[in-house]
Amino acid sequence: KEAMEQKQFKVYFQPKYSIKSHEITGAEALVRWERDNGTVLSPNAFIPVYENNGKIIDLDFYVFETVVEFIAENLKAGREQVPISINASSLHASDPQTINTYINILKKYNVDPTMVEIELTETAVVSEYESVRKLFDSFQLHGIKTAMDDFGSGYSSFGMLQNYNFDIMKIDMSFVRQIETNTKTRSIIRFIIEMAHTMDIKIIAEGAETKEQVEFLRDNGCDYIQGYYFYKPMPEEEFVKLLDAGR
Ligand code: C2E
Ligand code: MG
Ligand code: MG
Repeated sequence: KEAMEQKQFKVYFQPKYSIKSHEITGAEALVRWERDNGTVLSPNAFIPVYENNGKIIDLDFYVFETVVEFIAENLKAGREQVPISINASSLHASDPQTINTYINILKKYNVDPTMVEIELTETAVVSEYESVRKLFDSFQLHGIKTAMDDFGSGYSSFGMLQNYNFDIMKIDMSFVRQIETNTKTRSIIRFIIEMAHTMDIKIIAEGAETKEQVEFLRDNGCDYIQGYYFYKPMPEEEFVKLLDAGR
């Protein structure tokens, strides 16, 4: 709570790059904890703890509000702006008020729902099947696009794919990592892309770091890439400069 009040949680932005149109089409908001002793903690160091003690709910809303305020300021200043995705913990699914909190934040800053997207991980989806399904639907109902994060890393099933509505699928980094070395991985990625496209779902590949990975993904119709090959997560000021430069 103290860290939140002192604004020690900083939002970084990692651009998503379209390999079809060669431009930045969005970004993901990723939280960092810049503690007053100068150390910077990555989310993997504190999010599991916050998932356990329930504090993740407040942190997610805090990150969402920070992003929405950022978008509102940029639009007011007449700057270039792209939709930003924000991660949401599966714990939100058990609270029916969740969607209202998100919508109220958008209303407070007068930001259009199409400027944000919500990412939920596949693990979350599987553990809270029914409530997460409803949460996905309520975001869509309010015009907020939804993404299935880390697809393929957890316990996905075709049953889940057939019963869930979402707009974007993010292929887990563990697959992208094996593009050069594993023939089966290449087949699986090709299949995921084709399957998603026939269901009208856009595909983002996470964690592409090499030219070979990017070329394979491009040649097989992947829509967007979010990886160090193009951009690492960066502080707000840097992201704003990057968008300005692209105008
Ligand atoms: P994620 O949502 O799957 O985010 C992608 C992660 O992959 C980020 O790690 C990003 O920095 C990293 N990444 C992207 N491209 C590359 C690459 O080319 N190479 C490598 N090695 N890594 C790459 P990060 O920022 O450490 O975040 C880790 C996870 O923490 C996120 O995974 C997400 O699940 C969670 N997280 C971050 N911010 C939030 C938040 O505000 N709320 C919640 N609930 N979870 C969050
Ligand atoms: Mg994510
Ligand atoms: Mg991911």
